[in-house]
Amino acid sequence: MTIYNLGSINIDHVYRLAALPQAGETIHSQSYGQGLGGKGANQSVAAARAGAQVHHLGAMGTGDDWVLDRLRDAGVDTGGIARLADEATGHAIILVEQGAENSIVLHPGANGALPADRIAAGLRGIGPGDILLMQNETSLQAETAARAKAAGARVIYSAAPFEIEALRAVLPHISILAVNEGEARQTFAAFGEDLPVEGLLITRGADGAEYRDLLSGKTTLQPAFKVEAVDTTGAGDCFAGWFAAGLARGEDVATALRHASAAAALQVTRKGAGDAMPDRAEVLDFLN
Ligand code: ADP
Repeated sequence: MTIYNLGSINIDHVYRLAALPQAGETIHSQSYGQGLGGKGANQSVAAARAGAQVHHLGAMGTGDDWVLDRLRDAGVDTGGIARLADEATGHAIILVEQGAENSIVLHPGANGALPADRIAAGLRGIGPGDILLMQNETSLQAETAARAKAAGARVIYSAAPFEIEALRAVLPHISILAVNEGEARQTFAAFGEDLPVEGLLITRGADGAEYRDLLSGKTTLQPAFKVEAVDTTGAGDCFAGWFAAGLARGEDVATALRHASAAAALQVTRKGAGDAMPDRAEVLDFLN
């Protein structure tokens, strides 16, 4: 079964700093790196490396061809990515302070200007058994989710970056909501715990993850694997992409969770986001 991913494509500019700059302050970075990012691209790469057939639906500027090469190298079908002459490829300025949370400035660029006709055309083959993945970094989420659901596909939505109104708009059209701990808290505060979805995936960093099947009431817990984390950027995307790939290949929830947790554990031991996603052989090897 195929995963369609309506997702952002960003170039990550990563600066390592001794401390974050205060207002009015200029500081030197200790290092700089450029990589593939954006929650959408990250999840596409994660799912493709997990072995899924992935069609990415999105947009970027006219330059930056290395980004498409990187996606294709991972096995992602990039035919549904529009190139927009008037928009910059989305990009993120990521400030990494050792021992602290990352601080990020995001310029959506082309991700906020998806051409509706191209997205609709890209979704034409979707049907029962297929999955639409989405995150909150592109335009057209609710329309695309409604279309996928009407075609009989399952829709998995990562509510990140968290926005109540964006979640409210997609909630009637999604099957599984994927959130981290902070997003779960905000979701419950806004909508209560009795959500109108079939399942809720909550990741809790080094404390693991859980899947609540809201139809049966069954909760499946998955501890995190103990590793030495060096960069947790993209951990949630790695988890979501692998979890979706597991469901797309017909795995039960417990197996999909275990594989996703192993993949995310490997991913946090490496620097980078999209470029740090492990493949299936690495994950199976890690579990043996
Ligand atoms: P997000 O990146 O969306 O905030 P989390 O921080 O919850 O997501 O991480 C997603 C998943 O990645 C976790 O459920 C866990 O499986 C894995 N993970 C994250 N941090 C670590 C860590 N330090 N050690 C092992 N696994 C981790």
